[in-house]
Amino acid sequence: MSQISRKTEHVVQGQPTRDGAGVNLIRVLTQQWQRRLDPFLMLDEFRSDDPNDYIAGFPEHPHRGFETVTYMQAGQMRHKDNAGHEGVVGPGDVQWMTAGKGILHSETPEQVAGLMHGFQLWINLPAKKKLAKPTYQEVPSAQIPVLTSAEGHQVKVIAGSWQETTGPLHRPDTEPLYLDLQLQNETPLFVPIPAGHNAFVYVVQGQPLVAGQTIAPRRMAILSNDTQANGVLLQGHAGDQLLVLSGQPLKEPIVQWGPFVMNTRDEIEQAISDYQSGQL
Ligand code: MN
Repeated sequence: MSQISRKTEHVVQGQPTRDGAGVNLIRVLTQQWQRRLDPFLMLDEFRSDDPNDYIAGFPEHPHRGFETVTYMQAGQMRHKDNAGHEGVVGPGDVQWMTAGKGILHSETPEQVAGLMHGFQLWINLPAKKKLAKPTYQEVPSAQIPVLTSAEGHQVKVIAGSWQETTGPLHRPDTEPLYLDLQLQNETPLFVPIPAGHNAFVYVVQGQPLVAGQTIAPRRMAILSNDTQANGVLLQGHAGDQLLVLSGQPLKEPIVQWGPFVMNTRDEIEQAISDYQSGQL
């Protein structure tokens, strides 16, 4: 099959922001892009070797109605929730939490110095699963397949698939594809993306070409939904790192209030009331 690339439709620069108890991070996917990038709701990158930027962490807070995916690059983050799950997410590990009807958890740096680097992605849940039982998966780095493409590039498959290899995390409704690419040379790489998905590429390192357009670090290239395209063409240099994300849109109303993402205002009111009465 011939390779037809989607185009770069928008380039979005990540915005410095502060969250939790005072963690400085870059918010890449903000609320204004939630409809365009349905089912993705948020993407944050945190990257600092100054403990003042991360030491405060994220003390206990609630979530309802969606999933969080934490992918660490460097450093250690301890999480603990009110369902009895506790663990440390370290370099290369992924923690996938389905908040469902509600969870209370904390995310705290397990270090007082050194580099802390990682990503947190929020993926929406379909209306029928927003009040499901919370679940949680921790995937150690060693269980995430890392492949070498025919061109010699490194492809880490966190969710979805690359050729014959399927990543450890699957979701039937949103079918997320989550690839971490480390380019090894200047040979172009074509990444297949399912038709109908909303998709974007986030540049972590380097200044690669995404569908022919140079994208600087900490920028998200939102890819066009051309019906005839079957992927995206990437080209850069050895050492460039890019995240490729795509997902099946839910096409349902999105109402977010802080850590709750539901379909209606009434459901948000209910979430706040359930939280305040200790029912999460
Ligand atoms: Mn959280």
